[in-house]
Amino acid sequence: KELTDLNTLVDEYQRLAYHGMRAKNKTFNTSMLVDLDPNAGLVEMVPQEIGRVLLNLLTNAFHAVIEKKEEGSKEYKPGVTVQTRKAGKGIEIRVTDNGNGIPEKVRDKIFQPFFTTKPTGQGTGLGLSLSYDIIKAHGGTLEVKSEEGKGTEFITKLPVA
Ligand code: ADP
Ligand code: MG
Repeated sequence: KELTDLNTLVDEYQRLAYHGMRAKNKTFNTSMLVDLDPNAGLVEMVPQEIGRVLLNLLTNAFHAVIEKKEEGSKEYKPGVTVQTRKAGKGIEIRVTDNGNGIPEKVRDKIFQPFFTTKPTGQGTGLGLSLSYDIIKAHGGTLEVKSEEGKGTEFITKLPVA
């Protein structure tokens, strides 16, 4: 683990995730809000691992908004937000989307390895289970809040150095 500036890492990986998505999908036009707390500071972490978690959460968020857009509602404006927030003795990274949300009956399965609702070949079902393990190994927590039809928020909490 090494002391890493969280905001720099989040900014780097949100760009990577966004441009990766854009390169694969020319019609991708999701608005992306990056809201970084100037007091986020340094976090003791394996940067590539926390970066991997960010890529997983952002990719899932992008898929959720793309899926909703494909349903064809004209008023719908796809949006994804990534935030950092100093919160007590810890630090939070929140990834929020206004996709379709996670149905209640599958919500307790999403962190299980190989659980996916994506078509064969499009999802391994390993992103969230791996992310959960990485955050746990950093002494943090990964939680989800989701409202069907409205969207999803993943909250990562990490202890500050
Ligand atoms: P994969 O993306 O390969 O399916 P993940 O472990 O990343 O595997 O996610 C597991 C499942 O959790 C997804 O297939 C999807 O059903 C659900 N999910 C994860 N993130 C979101 C999200 N932001 N919005 C809606 N569903 C989600
Ligand atoms: Mg995934």
